[in-house]
Amino acid sequence: MKIGYGWDSHEFKRGVPLKIGGVEIPHEKGLGGHSDGDVLLHAITDALLGAIAAPDIGTLFSPSDTRWKGADSSVFLAEALLQLKSAGYKIVNIDSTLILSDPKIGPHANAIRERISQLTTVPADCIGIKAKTPEGMGTDNAAIAHAVVLLEETSRTVRRKVSKKRRSSLSN
Ligand code: MG
Repeated sequence: MKIGYGWDSHEFKRGVPLKIGGVEIPHEKGLGGHSDGDVLLHAITDALLGAIAAPDIGTLFSPSDTRWKGADSSVFLAEALLQLKSAGYKIVNIDSTLILSDPKIGPHANAIRERISQLTTVPADCIGIKAKTPEGMGTDNAAIAHAVVLLEETSRTVRRKVSKKRRSSLSN
C-alpha cells in the first residue's frame, strides 16, 4: 500500500471557463493558469505521482512548454495513471477538499465525483469531494485543492502486461 498527497492553487480570472474536477461550472470567473487551471485534477495528479515517487506535475508538464497551453488537465491525470500502472499500483480511494469562497461546490459535487470516476475508473463511492470556504485565510480570489490517494499493488500478471504494452508503445 502507498499513500500520496497533492496540493494546488489557482487564481480566479475573468474571461475563462471555470473547470473543477473535469466539470465546467457556471461562474463569472474561471481559474487562470497555463493549462485549463483545473486545480482539483492537478492536486489529484500530484497525489498519484507523489505516491509512486515520480516527478511532480510541474516537472512532467512544464508551464514553459507551449504544448500544455490551455491543455485539458485530464491529459495530466491520464499520464499519472499510466505511470501508476507501470509501477504496479492501482487506486483504492481518493479524498479531496476544495477551499474557495465562491461558487458553492455542493450542487456540483456529484457531477465532479462521476467525472473523476470516469477518468480514473475508481468507483464514485471511493471518491471524496468536500468543499470549504476560506474563513480568515484571505484567499477569496483563489481556489485551493488538497487531495490524498491510497494505492494498492496490482497483481504481477497485470503489471507485466502493462509494462510490455508501455514498452512497445514507446518504441513505436
Ligand atoms: Mg495547477
